[in-house]
Amino acid sequence: MQKWHKERVLLIGDASAAFLPTAGVGASIAMESAAVLNDELARVDTRSVPDAIDLFLKRRRRRVDTIQAQSRLLFKLMSLKPEPLTMACNVLLRCISVDQFFGSITRWMRQPI
Ligand SMILES: Cc1cc2nc3c(=O)[nH]c(=O)nc-3n(C[C@H](O)[C@H](O)[C@H](O)COP(=O)(O)OP(=O)(O)OC[C@H]3O[C@@H](n4cnc5c(N)ncnc54)[C@H](O)[C@@H]3O)c2cc1C
Repeated sequence: MQKWHKERVLLIGDASAAFLPTAGVGASIAMESAAVLNDELARVDTRSVPDAIDLFLKRRRRRVDTIQAQSRLLFKLMSLKPEPLTMACNVLLRCISVDQFFGSITRWMRQPI
């Protein structure tokens, strides 16, 4: 979603940014967001909830958007068409480890939330 909140209503998890199952990170991202939201809400009283939401968005937006974009890119690579491209990709994928393939995502996931 382009916008994750309206006034005091905030979307997290798949409702804000759904991930393709191929990346295998959607649940982790949803739980990260829940933890960060809990952290921000724990620091404010009810009047300052909009500030907590702003801080939540600052901590989460770039990370979630980047990992989502990377997961979509990987999916495109996995589902290349026409067939010769798929075959070339399959050969290439045999030469690299899972860690290398998902490297861009795991590097982000290793950063503290
Ligand atoms: C095939 C597949 C494989 C996946 N594999 C992985 C994986 O390996 N690793 C990983 O991290 N992620 C994986 N994911 C992604 C992960 O499942 C989701 O990112 C995660 O479940 C999102 O959590 P959520 O709480 O945001 O949404 P959901 O888990 O979808 O929870 C939303 C809940 O709201 C309920 N609901 C909906 N509408 C209403 C309503 N009107 N009133 C009340 N309740 C309502 C739904 O019934 C549901 O229980 C996979 C997803 C798929 C589809």
